[in-house]
Amino acid sequence: MAAKIIDGKAIANKVHADSRRAVEELKTRGITPGLAVVLVGDDPASRAYVRSKDKMCRELGLHSVKHELPAATTQQELIALVEKLNADPAIHGILVQSPPPAHIDERAVIEAIDPRKDVDGFHPVNVAKLALGDRDGFVPCTPLGCQKLLVESAVETAGAHIVVLGRSMIVGKPLALLLMQKGRGGDATVTVAHSRTRNIAEVTRSADILIAAIGRAEFVQAEHVREGAVVIDVGINRVDDPILDRGYRLTGDVDFANVAAKCAAITPVPGGVGPMTIAMLIANTIKACRQLHGLESETAWD
Ligand code: NAP
Repeated sequence: MAAKIIDGKAIANKVHADSRRAVEELKTRGITPGLAVVLVGDDPASRAYVRSKDKMCRELGLHSVKHELPAATTQQELIALVEKLNADPAIHGILVQSPPPAHIDERAVIEAIDPRKDVDGFHPVNVAKLALGDRDGFVPCTPLGCQKLLVESAVETAGAHIVVLGRSMIVGKPLALLLMQKGRGGDATVTVAHSRTRNIAEVTRSADILIAAIGRAEFVQAEHVREGAVVIDVGINRVDDPILDRGYRLTGDVDFANVAAKCAAITPVPGGVGPMTIAMLIANTIKACRQLHGLESETAWD
């Protein structure tokens, strides 16, 4: 079986086109959606993420502010900046790039963000809203992107058995909640598997849709996948590769070549879930902007 490749870049571009239109429409009302991204320290991967978020926001016409703070920034200083952004009417979305340096209590920083501007969806108020099925909250961008990939690829989730590999607060747990919601892109029967799951291959083989988010390079092999299943690979792992100038290559949590030979559809890495995360961040920022201005907002997950 030749698997269909789910093209995350193309689907993200479609979301960006919708975002661009939404920004233009808001501008006719004199409103420009604004996103502030805060980075503490000089982790190169985080710096690259922040740069690409800023660039994409600008390309789509959003107001984008980047705060790059030194690694020695105190928690108090960071929270003071978050509070300033909470009060800034030009800013509708706030994101503090994870992970911060070890001396910072990330949880306390997240809780300092106004939940109405928490476009990452990590604030306890938004976590609770997702669990309650309250659609005016914010859902973390990567799970939202996975759901959008499925919807846009016409993969039916209603009644499907979806196995989510991984239970982190960033991906696995919110994704499971999202897929079991009532409505489009939901209504699935969800199983969450993790490092303590017994007979993991047996569990994953029972999936109509398998979503891997564990951070283990090529963990998912053909034996983990049922013939004809749909496979979404969230993983981004660096694997040493001396042949390449940079000395490593990026790979997902799925052994792409072997699994693609068996499944019906699969996302590549890179070019699958990755581009969706930033697309959903911008969609969430536009949603926050509309809500803060008392305008009707389509939910970003529809
Ligand atoms: P994480 O916080 O480290 O969580 C990993 C989860 O996987 C944990 O629940 C862990 O189980 C489980 N796990 C680890 N090894 C396992 C194994 N051998 N068998 C079964 N379960 C196992 O990671 P994360 O932040 O969720 O990220 C997961 C992956 O997604 C990473 O590669 C990350 O880079 C990638 N990611 C990509 C994007 C994107 O935009 N595409 C965004 C976020 C993350 P326990 O809970 O039992 O420890």
